[in-house]
Amino acid sequence: MQFRDLKRQYDALKEEIDSGIARVISDADFISGREVGELEEQLADYVGVRHCVTCGNGTDALELALMAWGVGEGDAVFVPDFTFFASGEAVSRVGAVPIFVDVDGETYNVDPSDLERKIGGVLADGRLAPRAVVAVDLFGQPADYRKIREIAGGHGLLVLEDSAQGFGGSIAAGGDGGRAGRRMAGSFGDIATTSFFPAKPLGCYGDGGAIFTDNDEWAALLDSLRIHGKGSGKYDNVRIGMNSRLDTIQAAILLPKLRAFREHELCDASAAAERYGRMLEGAVGIPSVGEGFESSWAQYTIRLPGRRERDGLQARLAERGIPSMVYYRKPMHAQAAFGGVAHFQAGCPVAEGLCDRVLSLPIHPYITAEEQEMVCECIREYLGRQGWQGGWSDAAD
Ligand SMILES: *Cc1c(COP(=O)(O)O)cnc(C)c1O
Repeated sequence: MQFRDLKRQYDALKEEIDSGIARVISDADFISGREVGELEEQLADYVGVRHCVTCGNGTDALELALMAWGVGEGDAVFVPDFTFFASGEAVSRVGAVPIFVDVDGETYNVDPSDLERKIGGVLADGRLAPRAVVAVDLFGQPADYRKIREIAGGHGLLVLEDSAQGFGGSIAAGGDGGRAGRRMAGSFGDIATTSFFPAKPLGCYGDGGAIFTDNDEWAALLDSLRIHGKGSGKYDNVRIGMNSRLDTIQAAILLPKLRAFREHELCDASAAAERYGRMLEGAVGIPSVGEGFESSWAQYTIRLPGRRERDGLQARLAERGIPSMVYYRKPMHAQAAFGGVAHFQAGCPVAEGLCDRVLSLPIHPYITAEEQEMVCECIREYLGRQGWQGGWSDAAD
């Protein structure tokens, strides 16, 4: 069994992907070719924003967004304590200080009340200027943007949506437009970013990323920044930028993958998540999806009562040939790389606890019900052997 079965997906889409790659090679149009523009148009349309600017990867996408806003030295940027390292790394790379915010123990996304608290702490301290919030759509579920926007708005902060894992997720829009009354991940931030790393909900066959915004000025600036700060042309350079573009071959791979994603993959991943939910509810802590929210199920992450049980279950699954992953083993504030900014890091107890208790199970659009039954059977057997037949869900929360 694969954790995320990219070979099965390739088997399903092989003809289109192969012919796309062959076309780019025979056109010899490897950088900024026709497929890149086509993909940007389709992505912007799907997400429901005016502009999509593709780039080299999801980490560059975050850094480019912060560069476009001029975030840097002396600025505080609020980042969830429970996320992939890049969400905070980009902040440090532009010279700003990441301030880590605790998360909700069931949705795994940033806890708005702790955000408010951490902003207050920075203001009281007075050394840094609060500038932005990086809101992460962790494991596929959009963050709570209604509350985040309210808090950010009250303090004049920009919202940067890190949707590296969230592409395809959505929130019911209450009838104000969007995709069938829903707003898509990638449209919630003042600027939003995503990643096409192969294992993400929409992945390519290497590195890739994209930035979304409704703001014309920022979109133009991002387009300049990703190509060496270009002015009127590539050899007229008006600012210090980066070299961060999506290869044409990756765009050609993403075009048929985006079609499959829209046609059935997102639905199939949801169905798989529902199946896990039915089989595991009451046995372990299952991920909670907010009212009106839809996840793209980048991960299906359960909770056990503690590290011993989590590690024991992971070992048992491995014995049965079932892959699982711990996202994440360490809260951001405990990463050695952020050691120098520890002076602002009051505790994030929920994030810390989750690092000991979470386990992500195999999930992807091509997983079969039989494979999922095998995973759940192994979990139930492990629970039984440990004498927890009654289940862990209460103990786990
Ligand atoms: C994967 C990921 C990134 C970085 O994307 P890359 O394309 O690997 O650079 C950033 N943030 C989050 C939350 C991610 O999961």
